[in-house]
Amino acid sequence: MKWLRDTLGERARFHQPMSAHTTWAVGGPAWCVCQVHSAEETAAVIRATEEAGLPWMVLGRGSNLLVSDRGYYGVMLRLAGPLARLRREGDHIRAGGGAPLPAAVKLAARVGLAGLEWAVGIPGTAGGAAATNAGAFGSDLAALTRELTLLMPDGEVHTLPGEQVPAGYRRRELPPGAVVLEVLLALQPDEPRAVAERTEHFLAQRRQSQPVAAATAGCVFKNPPGDAAGRLIEAAGCKGLAVGQAEVSARHANFIVNRGRASARDVLALIEQVRRRVREATGVELELEVEVVGDA
Ligand SMILES: Cc1cc2nc3c(=O)[nH]c(=O)nc-3n(C[C@H](O)[C@H](O)[C@H](O)COP(=O)(O)OP(=O)(O)OC[C@H]3O[C@@H](n4cnc5c(N)ncnc54)[C@H](O)[C@@H]3O)c2cc1C
Repeated sequence: MKWLRDTLGERARFHQPMSAHTTWAVGGPAWCVCQVHSAEETAAVIRATEEAGLPWMVLGRGSNLLVSDRGYYGVMLRLAGPLARLRREGDHIRAGGGAPLPAAVKLAARVGLAGLEWAVGIPGTAGGAAATNAGAFGSDLAALTRELTLLMPDGEVHTLPGEQVPAGYRRRELPPGAVVLEVLLALQPDEPRAVAERTEHFLAQRRQSQPVAAATAGCVFKNPPGDAAGRLIEAAGCKGLAVGQAEVSARHANFIVNRGRASARDVLALIEQVRRRVREATGVELELEVEVVGDA
């Protein structure tokens, strides 16, 4: 699509290895990864991609994705520039869909807004966190979301009250094909020092229990009702289990670590082994939290 190159210039990059765009550092090439700077540009890229008969998806930080080794023959849109801005508005933080969640957590601590401390250590974007309803320590993003601004498949932009978009555990029922352009988070004023201390406390808990410095995609499986996937995986004897360079973390059994050059195939084979062992040991069928994308 010459159009992409002509319109976006350097912001359209072709044959991009997804291992460089995902926290798991796994995945073959995407045909195009392009940075979009406005709702109109996003809508135009989507329209052109669909007219060319190719699939598209929004790429956040790639921190919940397992991209196949063959890659993705389509367009990955990254919300950047004005669509990645953060600003404080009274007791709210307005975050562009592409804004890094860690920067929102930092801003909240700096200006003294409480409520987002639990999100420290989640490396995604505000849009990705809204789309997956990221959560931790008993809280989630949906609970803080006053408004969601969405680009709809017809090219219209709608701002909806958060409660109009149903959410559940790691699930947000966005209209199909909608892009989260902006999220308005409702927080409470507090002493900056108190917010910073609580943030630090959550970070320390993560550091103690999770392989935070390793290449992972966070928790691989959802917790089944009333239980923890990590506990079941550990009970099934899977800690340390490995396929190629993919290994079940010794620190937290629901994390799979890429020890260097793991392929998506390694990770998928390990996921299947863990699932089978947990099923055989406990009768529980684990459901994926990470999203598998790309060409099989
Ligand atoms: C070390 C580590 C710790 C983690 N801890 C947690 C945790 O505690 N809790 C938790 O919930 N998750 C956790 N995660 C997983 C991950 O960070 C979250 O799911 C995060 O919200 C994903 O955001 P992302 O921007 O990386 O999205 P991506 O992984 O890039 O995309 C995920 C999905 O969201 C869609 N998407 C992304 N942006 C948009 C948008 N603007 N509009 C519409 N759809 C969009 C994508 O198309 C894709 O379907 C962790 C991951 C890591 C690596």
